[in-house]
Amino acid sequence: MPIENYKKKRNFSQTPEPEGEVERKYKERKPLSFVIHEHHASHLHWDFRLEMEGVLKSWALPKGVPQSLKEKRLAVQTEDHPLEYLTFEGKIPEGEYGAGQVIIFDIGTYDLIERKQEKIEFILDGKKVKGKYALIKFKGQGKNWLLIKLS
Ligand code: MN
Repeated sequence: MPIENYKKKRNFSQTPEPEGEVERKYKERKPLSFVIHEHHASHLHWDFRLEMEGVLKSWALPKGVPQSLKEKRLAVQTEDHPLEYLTFEGKIPEGEYGAGQVIIFDIGTYDLIERKQEKIEFILDGKKVKGKYALIKFKGQGKNWLLIKLS
């Protein structure tokens, strides 16, 4: 279901982004991966993606990943992306959804500490981004979360 939203927004004859498998049987992988894309769209932002249940749960970070302790950054949840997106880099053409250059800011593995409806805690082990982080959902039904660096 969630990956359908990803597919609906994109024209795969135009964008170099991966379409993903038609149907993926979920199989838990260890270690789990994460990626932070730097996305030069109409507004520069970063896309934070955590592998969960066979997809990449995704959040747009208007100001990037917090690098210092207790720093909080807005994280707006976006559509799940296929696992193939982990290593995607390329230029999404003008006129297509998310037009602009996408590069990998950081990629690595992570350990999930806790996952609840309103809070996800994890330890990132990337090349640039390392340490314990939490995503905390705003109250209500919105898509807004905060990404906080805990250690
Ligand atoms: Mn983006």
